[in-house]
Amino acid sequence: MKPLQQLTRPNIWSLAPYSSARSEYSGRAAHVFLDANENPYNDPFNRYPDPLQHEVKARLSQIKGVPEECIFLGNGSDEAIDLVYRCFCEPKQDNVVAICPTYGMYEVCADINNVEYRNVMLNDQYQLEADRVLAACDDNTKVIWLCSPNNPTGNSLHREEVIKVIEQFQGLVVVDEAYIDFSRETPVTRLLPEYPNLIVLQTMSKAWGSAAIRLGMAFASKEIIDLYNKVKYPYNVNLLTQKQALQRMSDTHAVEQWVKLLLHERDRVMLAFSELKICQKVYPTDANFFLAKVDDAQRTYDYLVDKGIIVRNRTRVKLCDNCLRITIGTKEENSELLGALRSM
Ligand SMILES: *Cc1c(COP(=O)(O)O)cnc(C)c1O
Repeated sequence: MKPLQQLTRPNIWSLAPYSSARSEYSGRAAHVFLDANENPYNDPFNRYPDPLQHEVKARLSQIKGVPEECIFLGNGSDEAIDLVYRCFCEPKQDNVVAICPTYGMYEVCADINNVEYRNVMLNDQYQLEADRVLAACDDNTKVIWLCSPNNPTGNSLHREEVIKVIEQFQGLVVVDEAYIDFSRETPVTRLLPEYPNLIVLQTMSKAWGSAAIRLGMAFASKEIIDLYNKVKYPYNVNLLTQKQALQRMSDTHAVEQWVKLLLHERDRVMLAFSELKICQKVYPTDANFFLAKVDDAQRTYDYLVDKGIIVRNRTRVKLCDNCLRITIGTKEENSELLGALRSM
């Protein structure tokens, strides 16, 4: 890995971060807070929330096995994605390399930040070929985006190829594990102590059933997390979100039960889907959705919309010709989908 300073935008490296009232005061017990121009009434909503979310991170640290100082929390993973560009990529100069097809936000954020985005096609098994990704990099490539299990294809990327990319690339490698709780693979967070150029993204939006609260996580070296904290908005995770995240994390058993149920349903739905007349192929998946190739994706999509059932039409995505991406719902919802498709 190149020195972190060389990978960081010079203005960010030398940035003196905004010092909020709540971050300047810390330490000894206090009971009169007249430092932040807050209204003393309307408890508890009158107070600014903890800018570094210590309580949430402490619990998350236990669950994920990652030290608190190596955790960043954001307004969804989307904030953690955007911060990668704002910290490391100089507009109109640096570039990033990503697999294709993959999650759309990496490219949208590149465009917004005016950073060149280079696509490297997955192979026909939707697998990563490390050598081709590495060959697309040059001296101005700051970041490689990987997503495993990948969206919209559903499969996990081969771990040996992921590790090859991390080991051979001199810049930063982001592995987005939004769907890791559904996967048979071990999280790459395990590799963080070994690889200072690794950033892992996870989220409370999928297996944790908490998309509404907007809580995304980045795990990385303390040095990278310090940069993130310097650039983020001071109070980027609001009080309601922090409270609800703590409550959700107090019952991890429920999450495990949801995952079990969804994986069981996924097997049932995929099998039934593969037997439909319109089905050409159901792709292997490690997530709470699957990709399927059908005779006519647009026609099937429109038919389902007409019945009030919405799936994701991915036919215009590269390598996903006539493909639908189908999220696993409740048993009843899944049966309604299958029933509708059987009588199409
Ligand atoms: C759903 C998803 C996310 C989650 O984004 P949030 O902003 O945390 O809701 C991140 N990455 C991928 C690949 C996803 O599919």
